[in-house]
Amino acid sequence: MMGPRSSRPVPVSVPVETDAEVTLESVLGLLEESGRTLDEELVRSVYDFSAEMHSDQRRRSGEPYLTHPVYVAWLLAEWGFDQVCVIVGLLHDVIEDTLTTREVIAEKFGEEVASLVDGVTKISQHAYVQRDDAQAETFRKLILASVRDIRVILVKLADRLHNMMTLEHMRPDAQRRIARETLEIYAPIAHRLGMAKVQADLEDLSFFYLRPERYRELDAKIKEKLKGAKGQIQEVSRRLERELAEGGIEASITFRVKRLYSIHQKLRRQGIDVAQLYDYLAFRVITESVKDCYAALGVVHQAWQLVPGRFKDYIAMPKGNFYQSLHTTLLAEGGQPFEVQIRTREMDSIAEDGIAAHWSYKQGEAQLDDDNQKMAWLRQVLDWQKEVDNPRAFLTALKLDLFPDEVYTFTPGGDVLAFPRGAMPLDFAYRIHTELGHHCSGARVNGKLVPLRTELQTGDRVEIITNNNRTPSRDWLGLVKTSRAKSKIRHWLNTEQNKRSGEIGRRLLERAIRKHKVSPKRAFESDRMATYLEREGIANLDDLFSRVGFGKIAPAQVVPRLLSEEQLSTTEQKPSKLRSAVSRMLPFGNAAIAVRGDGDMLAYLAKCCKPLPGEQIIGYITRGRGVSVHSAECPNVKNLLYDPEREIEVSWARTTDEVYSIQLEIETEDEPGMLARLTETMTKLGSNIRQISASTLQPGKGLIDVVVEVRDQKHFERLSHAIQDLPGVFEVTRRMGG
Ligand code: MN
Repeated sequence: MMGPRSSRPVPVSVPVETDAEVTLESVLGLLEESGRTLDEELVRSVYDFSAEMHSDQRRRSGEPYLTHPVYVAWLLAEWGFDQVCVIVGLLHDVIEDTLTTREVIAEKFGEEVASLVDGVTKISQHAYVQRDDAQAETFRKLILASVRDIRVILVKLADRLHNMMTLEHMRPDAQRRIARETLEIYAPIAHRLGMAKVQADLEDLSFFYLRPERYRELDAKIKEKLKGAKGQIQEVSRRLERELAEGGIEASITFRVKRLYSIHQKLRRQGIDVAQLYDYLAFRVITESVKDCYAALGVVHQAWQLVPGRFKDYIAMPKGNFYQSLHTTLLAEGGQPFEVQIRTREMDSIAEDGIAAHWSYKQGEAQLDDDNQKMAWLRQVLDWQKEVDNPRAFLTALKLDLFPDEVYTFTPGGDVLAFPRGAMPLDFAYRIHTELGHHCSGARVNGKLVPLRTELQTGDRVEIITNNNRTPSRDWLGLVKTSRAKSKIRHWLNTEQNKRSGEIGRRLLERAIRKHKVSPKRAFESDRMATYLEREGIANLDDLFSRVGFGKIAPAQVVPRLLSEEQLSTTEQKPSKLRSAVSRMLPFGNAAIAVRGDGDMLAYLAKCCKPLPGEQIIGYITRGRGVSVHSAECPNVKNLLYDPEREIEVSWARTTDEVYSIQLEIETEDEPGMLARLTETMTKLGSNIRQISASTLQPGKGLIDVVVEVRDQKHFERLSHAIQDLPGVFEVTRRMGG
């Protein structure tokens, strides 16, 4: 199955004379060596089942398909994972590639195995579309988030590693696609799990297929460099051994060469050439205890001159993936720098194998910090492992939610978008485009229409439905989860509110001006207006309208400044229909409320207490929404009235005693009983008479002057008609002004 040696990279940790060795027997051998529970008969029966299912399949290399799952199982056993992982490795492709179903596997090998195999199958179904770094990161999270059990990821990594090892049989375009996905998705996942060897194998194999020439060139140069450094390496190595022995420190010394892809990155990052590269190799001092690590550090710092600024204590401050070690760089006799890494045996094992080491280390003495939130779960793994003696029970307890606060969803185009858990389709819409959010009327999730109040789940494919007549409502604020959506909705509502306030303000002013029989247009364009605006520091008319609409300025404050004495003395008492017009403009308007002092102010019932007609109420001038009317008993009122100037007296329009006094001149026949008939009619219609006087105009013709109270225009008209209809009444005139 291996191709010509010269054309393929040989990952250090992956044995290559494999076909003969990697058999069911070698897998069983590894499991047995691990000293864990082994049900050989079960593993054999799983093998037989997989063999039967894949019997008619071949790999591209021409080999029987079964070689692949067996190799995957072998890798898992080699990494130190247990029998269940190995079984899942053997079965990992049967759901995807054969006619077997999850149910069949559950029936034969149990629910645990079935759900793991199913998990591996599901990961393969997420198609990765390469776009940018952020997208790759999101996709990695998606992979991690969509599994509930780490073992699914481990099997997937083994699967990917073997596929990379046998990639030569694929077409070149497929090679590049798979290599890129491996480099961007799976190698970083291995890194996050602390599996340094697997990460480096995946990276080097990807590097080989993505940049074959660069790979070979670098490989040759490093080998050359190593050859030249051979003498020096031996010398440093011998001296290191001697100094440590003299210091009474028990330690073993190895050295390792940095992996090619990692060197390639370093050269690119620092813009240097292989000749300038010195830390491509490092000596590793493995001690028995943490105390010895620091003792060894003291020894090497005395023996060689150290390069300042290169010392790092990852024992006191472990890396996010729990890597622990002391690093220091020293100068050899010829002035060549070299790195020394000092750590305990257990730290070394964790540095190489990551989670796999945790899997096998029972005692887990290391005090591991987890300042990296994303890795907190690994900490949990450690904790559970400490508590549970039986690794099987431990593994069963290992149901993870790796990113409990996030969900990962797809756009119809295949992009992955991350959201906080609890996000709704509106959040999704606003993430894509503000306008999409504003006009969002519904959503299809995985092809099905869903209500706007639907929590998105990881893996959901979301399509937003829009309607141009749809606009944001205040309720949406309670529905969305992301701050982006919230601020977009708020912005829209505020803008809209400003627009409406301006409109309300303009109408209020127009009406107040018309009362004095002046054309509003003329008043707005007058010099007096210009002077008024300037003196008040108001930018322009729109600004004024908006202030009036927001209730910051009352029309009664403005009008006297715009009109002449003469104009002001001319008034027309005509109750306007503005209030209902305004009420129609805003859905929460309520025409049944009268606001004292400014009857045209928009009023609405507060949602918190919804006062009943007749109940004692209090008004509060809100910013932009008119007057909110609360029950006097409402507990919110106290909090709202932080600005007493905004409190305004309100009353129920229907039960109010607010009335307008009007003056009527009634020409009548000058006959007795006329006055009585008039007062009777007015009283019947519910009008109070404030003043009444009668005089004789000419013989037979009398004039009655009356000041009477009416509630509104309708009331006035009814009264006027009723008087007109009285026998002996010639004419009724309403007197304006004076
Ligand atoms: Mn596979």
